[in-house]
Amino acid sequence: MPTTALTQVRPGHGRYAPSPSGDLHLGNARTALLAWAYARLDGLAFLLRIEDLDRVQPGAAERQCEDLRLLALDWDEPPVRQSQRTAHYEAALGRLREGGMVYECYCSRRDIQDSPRAPHLPPGAYPGTCRDLDEHQRAAGRERLAASGRKPALRLRGEGASTIHDRFHGELTLPVDDVVLRRGDGVIAYNLAVVVDDGLQHVTQVVRADDLLSSAPRQAALARLLGYAVPEYVHVPLVLSEDGRRYAKRDGDLTVRALLAAGCPPEEIVGALAASIGVPGARTADEVLGRLDPAARLEVWWPHTGDSPLTSRV
Ligand code: GLU
Ligand code: ZN
Repeated sequence: MPTTALTQVRPGHGRYAPSPSGDLHLGNARTALLAWAYARLDGLAFLLRIEDLDRVQPGAAERQCEDLRLLALDWDEPPVRQSQRTAHYEAALGRLREGGMVYECYCSRRDIQDSPRAPHLPPGAYPGTCRDLDEHQRAAGRERLAASGRKPALRLRGEGASTIHDRFHGELTLPVDDVVLRRGDGVIAYNLAVVVDDGLQHVTQVVRADDLLSSAPRQAALARLLGYAVPEYVHVPLVLSEDGRRYAKRDGDLTVRALLAAGCPPEEIVGALAASIGVPGARTADEVLGRLDPAARLEVWWPHTGDSPLTSRV
């Protein structure tokens, strides 16, 4: 049962898509709370998707789901795991290939770093080396890789620019780059998987941390190429560590799990998250839902500083 039936359930889904690379930290929990609340407030069903194509810590997905439940977040369908959806990604890749939108890339990371770059490209950007090779050059590229036991990566033949609309950031237009769709080791790249999943799962609202904002236009371009509707984007501020980096596992024990283990009640954790998103005094997810203004701008949050009572707990 959805926690709240404030509005009628509309077609379409919201989602939270954690990477199970470790335990849920406060930054993840805040994003999850927002994704859940915005979906519920819009009358959308809410999904959980485990993005486990890369960097998996065994057991982390189960622990993250458990922690979300302890914070009283709920979801409407069993979580899906990307590692079990390869056939969907390969099918989408096949369609892009048929449309002439994919090419093989034989470059190593080193090749890309060392190649002379057009001045308009940002550092580390792919310079397009393999985009227009002839059959002969491609065969040579394959051979060169095979000698070291590798396979070509597959890239999108990016064209033009793509515009998205974000609830907080407004319109954003960026050139569509030649993003990797399948890596040389055969692993499907995040940018393809996320678009295929959001498309097939009828995700109409994407809430996530704003370090992914600049990926949204290329993801929207991929969605359009694959015939999926482009979702509404809601990029929310990152939670930062003391020195201003993205809050991460290495920032120690500000995980939901460690806080609970240290005797911090769930209401205190939710209370701190709620205060950081403009709902001071709310102690449960349902109370957040009752009072959250979905249009209110959010601030970056440093859980280490200010009046957060959590840091003294661990
Ligand atoms: N799995 C990504 C992360 O944990 C989020 C991807 C997304 O929401 O599109 O950062
Ligand atoms: Zn290349």
